[in-house]
Amino acid sequence: MTTAKADHPGRLARCRGLLDERGLDAVLVTDGHDVRYLSGFRGEDATLVVGAETALIVTDSRFYEQVYEEVADCELVEHRGTDLLQDSVKAAAERLGDGFTLGYQAGAMTHAEFRGLRRAHGGRLRDVRRHVTRLRMVKEPVELEALAAAAALVDLALGVVVGEGLVGRTEAEVAWRLLEEYHARGAEGESFEAIVAAGDHGAQAHAIPGPRRIKAGDLVVIDTGSRVDGYCSDITRTFAAGRVSKAHRKLYDIVLEAQLAGVAAVRHGAHGRDHVDAAARAVIKAAGYGEQFGHGTGHGVGLEVHEAPFLGSLRGDRLEAGMVCTVEPGIYLEGDAGVRIEDTVVVTHDGCERLTQYPKELQVVD
Ligand code: ZN
Ligand code: ZN
Repeated sequence: MTTAKADHPGRLARCRGLLDERGLDAVLVTDGHDVRYLSGFRGEDATLVVGAETALIVTDSRFYEQVYEEVADCELVEHRGTDLLQDSVKAAAERLGDGFTLGYQAGAMTHAEFRGLRRAHGGRLRDVRRHVTRLRMVKEPVELEALAAAAALVDLALGVVVGEGLVGRTEAEVAWRLLEEYHARGAEGESFEAIVAAGDHGAQAHAIPGPRRIKAGDLVVIDTGSRVDGYCSDITRTFAAGRVSKAHRKLYDIVLEAQLAGVAAVRHGAHGRDHVDAAARAVIKAAGYGEQFGHGTGHGVGLEVHEAPFLGSLRGDRLEAGMVCTVEPGIYLEGDAGVRIEDTVVVTHDGCERLTQYPKELQVVD
């Protein structure tokens, strides 16, 4: 149970901060996660219109009850027409007059919806997708509680499922058992479809679990997460199914060293690309596997399992205390094996706190 409360007025106030900053009269929020973050509404098919003096939630009759239950700080505008965005713009125009400048979220609407918006709105449109979504980067206590609960649950589930043994089970069976454990322990579900990849299948960073049976001698990559109160967890561990080769053990040690270096680089003020990704990548490069580590070192975790801040070699953000991110370097050897180790951590002033606490030494499981 969470004890802290979500600060929706504070979140709306920060969204209003974008008006001056971006030269807008109002922001039209269409990303469902942002709608939830700013208003508390957990349903779908709703928009928010946030102006200096207004906060409207626009949705249809399926959701009126839910809005009354979940939303305290926005006025309900009943959407009765055929086009939600056009009704949203109309509601904004009734309050702001014509010709106002509207921020919108490109990437959180279809092209057809954008064309409708363009026709409905006489004033200027500015894309502020990134800016709105990035309001979610620094977490409030209530969010940290949910994230910690989701992480504790994934630690537990992983222990139970792996404890049942790996050799002889299929990848899909293991993935399914994780989902069962999430439900049994009170999660809303998984935060993404689990990756369970044995042997050379592990060389695919985002492998889909299949009918393949795990054999003794396989390295098995398991990447999974649960969802609690809307918030995600994300962890990867690589297990040894029975005895694995010396070469694979060595590979594991390199990735572990890289992961520890990445975690050690996380702190308030550090840069996702220049410090965290660089620290993890340097270890893997020095071991001669730079080319076999093709993805970024980490990403933010919150209402979405992948969100800002980013910690990659191509794209990185400055970290601040209260942000939650992953550190997950890996090495992928085509036709041979893969290793990835991932934790979700909270950035603090002098480092970070791990939310996922599953042990990291190579666990040998029969
Ligand atoms: Zn993951
Ligand atoms: Zn991840």
